[in-house]
Amino acid sequence: MSRAVVALGANLGDRGSTLRAAAEAIAALPGVRPVASSREVESVAVTLDGPDTSKPRYRNAVVVIDTELGPQELLDALHGIEDDHGRTRQERWGDRTLDLDLVAYDDRSIDTATLTVPHPRAGERAFVLAPWLDADPDAVLPGAGPVADLLAAVGDDTERVDEPRLFDEPARVGPSSTPTTAPDGRTGAAS
Ligand code: AMP
Repeated sequence: MSRAVVALGANLGDRGSTLRAAAEAIAALPGVRPVASSREVESVAVTLDGPDTSKPRYRNAVVVIDTELGPQELLDALHGIEDDHGRTRQERWGDRTLDLDLVAYDDRSIDTATLTVPHPRAGERAFVLAPWLDADPDAVLPGAGPVADLLAAVGDDTERVDEPRLFDEPARVGPSSTPTTAPDGRTGAAS
């Protein structure tokens, strides 16, 4: 099992319902176990030219999962969920009903034509860092440091939305449940 962190964002349509449906769809993917989720935050839209207050505001959240999917397989599955929510890929950084980013995958560094992990801008974005910290107070962005420190450095300009966490169960981040073999040969999950 690997531990992955996924950032969710939406600035069109019923944003809260979309984030909730997307989190459910992620949790229901084959080979995925939900671990923790954040509450939602709201923030100003960021475009290629910087923050734009004339655009619809974003809702963002973060989910932490354990998964047997490889990083590219997981990204492909996330794109499938984006497509299910009517996402079209035309304008880069344009308005969208749903954006799903793979923020981190274990502590791996990946740089292919289609996937860069950790997500290159995660450490500068309060709308990723604040909900990630909400889901996991001990979160660390691989190669960059504790999420709490990164958020303090960029400044938290997000507003907490008064809604429950995206997953029903409370946040419960612990070690990923890698199957282990006990000394007597029994297999079980490390807790
Ligand atoms: P966006 O329009 O922001 O959703 O960007 C999507 C594109 O970014 C896709 O073509 C992905 O292949 C690529 N990409 C690279 N790294 C990542 C990542 N860590 N998470 C999500 N998309 C990524």
